[in-house]
Amino acid sequence: TEAWGPDDDEPRRHHGPVRVRVPAKINLHLGVGPLRADGFHELNTVYHAISLFDELTARAGDTLTLTMEGEGTGALALDETNLIIRAAKALAARTRVPAYARLHLRKSIPLAGGLAGGSADAAATLIACDLLWGTGLAREELAEIGATLGSDIPFLLHGGTALGTGHGEAISPILARPTTWHWVVAVAEGGLSTPEVYRKLDELRDGSWPPKALGDADELMSALRQRNPEVLGAALGNDLQPAALALRPELADVLKAGSEAGAVTGLVSGSGPTCVFLATDAAHAGRVAAGLNAAGVCRDAVTARGPMPGARVT
Ligand code: ATP
Repeated sequence: TEAWGPDDDEPRRHHGPVRVRVPAKINLHLGVGPLRADGFHELNTVYHAISLFDELTARAGDTLTLTMEGEGTGALALDETNLIIRAAKALAARTRVPAYARLHLRKSIPLAGGLAGGSADAAATLIACDLLWGTGLAREELAEIGATLGSDIPFLLHGGTALGTGHGEAISPILARPTTWHWVVAVAEGGLSTPEVYRKLDELRDGSWPPKALGDADELMSALRQRNPEVLGAALGNDLQPAALALRPELADVLKAGSEAGAVTGLVSGSGPTCVFLATDAAHAGRVAAGLNAAGVCRDAVTARGPMPGARVT
């Protein structure tokens, strides 16, 4: 489907359709520092891309349109508040091309779930439109545009397992021997607002509880190198978990049910309310998911693997 010649000076548009698959993220370590003057919290996080995907298709058009199907899309506006539209327009403005495309999203990543689905869709849009419009930006340039729209977008362009600092937008890959980790993702009924979870954390910390923040990710990084689920399980941590639990106390039942179903360990994913559980292998993950579904504590429990590549043309 290559649509341009070898030595073109002029960017040439792709005939389309361009189809991009993008994963959800979980945080293996989410250390949240104090609130900065710019309104962001300083983060020290380890991102991990898992095999739960949204798919964005871009076709040539003479205006910018968006259609969506799947998970939670009925609750999402198709206007300028949609991160897909914002990403397409930001790329067009940067590269001085008209923002013309027909975009279609097939969504599987639950909405407002702490899995960065909106950021994933924005990352997919940047990759798809860059190819469709022949603007040929480097991945780092797309990440720079992405960072202005959402802190998780640079990671979702990158994928794999990576350290995130700043407010999460500064990514450094973690070099480790390739290991596949097996997860169970317990999707909740309804979402949680990320800003609200951060506000709750600040409130808890003002009352000096929880007393101790996670800090850096050294223990998690060395656990990743050991390739042992028990060791990794003991190193997982999320500073936002107490805040998510304060806002959604029934998540404690989900974590308990996962542990009773035999998971190595479980934690809230990012700002929640999705909970993720580590399993020892694919069969074990299947049993933990079945146990969680039988307990009836979540909307759906599904298995996933990680790490996965970031947003890629399929
Ligand atoms: P994060 O962990 O990145 O803060 P999240 O995973 O909790 O986010 P998202 O599904 O990324 O939640 O969405 C958060 C909010 O972003 C949604 O409630 C919605 O208002 C807004 N949003 C805008 N565009 C999109 C989109 N294309 N997909 C999902 N959410 C979008």
